[in-house]
Amino acid sequence: MIQQAQQLAVAPISNFLVGAVGRGASGREYPGFNMEFAGLGLQHTVHAEQAVLAMAHAGGESALLELEVTHAPCGHCRQFLRELAAPLTVILPNGRFTLEELLPYSFGPDDLGVSGGMLSNPSVLVGEGPELARAAAEKSWSPYSKMRAGVAIRCGQQWFGGAYLENAAFNPSLNPAQYALILARAAGFTQVDESLFYGDEGLYGASLAVLPAIRRL
Ligand SMILES: [Zn+2]
Repeated sequence: MIQQAQQLAVAPISNFLVGAVGRGASGREYPGFNMEFAGLGLQHTVHAEQAVLAMAHAGGESALLELEVTHAPCGHCRQFLRELAAPLTVILPNGRFTLEELLPYSFGPDDLGVSGGMLSNPSVLVGEGPELARAAAEKSWSPYSKMRAGVAIRCGQQWFGGAYLENAAFNPSLNPAQYALILARAAGFTQVDESLFYGDEGLYGASLAVLPAIRRL
C-alpha cells in the first residue's frame, strides 16, 4: 500500500515523492502523500504524514497506532504528529521508532492546557454540498483559536469535505481546503469542479489560496 500511496504524490516543485500509511486502532489503513502547489508560497505544501492524519480524522478513527513512511519525517511533521497526544510507532526504512524518540522534549496540547488530541472526538465525515461544508466545520480540531471552518469540494459526482486541524505549535496547522484536497487526491482526483467554504472569516483567505474559485456560504 505504501507504494500506491507514494504514487498519489503531486510534487511539481521538488519531484520528491513521499508515501505513507497509517494504521488505526480500528484496523483500517490510511494512505498519505505529499502535495505541492506550483506558483503558491511553499507554506501551502501538504506533507504525507499530514495527509495520513487528515484521512484518519475524516474516517472517524479514534487513534493512530503506526505510521509507515518512505522517508524520515521532517521536523514539521514530527510536530504535527505530536498533536495526536498519544503513543505512535513510526516505521522508517531503517527501523521502528516511537514518536517520542523522534521528537524528544516535545511541546504538545497538554502544554497549553488542552486534554486529548486531534482524534479525540471521532466521527465520520459524510454528506454533500453545503451540508458537508458545515459538518466539516463542526468537526474541526481547533482547541487553541476556537475558530471553525469547513470546505466541501466536488470532483465529478463525488464530494469531499475538509475540516480545520490545529497544532499546539500553531504553524503546522492544516487548513480545510488542504484537507479536502487530500481526500479528493486519495480517491484519485486531480481536478476540482466546485468548492464551498463555511465558517470563520479568518480561514477563508487560506482556503482561497489553494482553491481560487471557492465560494463562501
Ligand atoms: Zn514533513
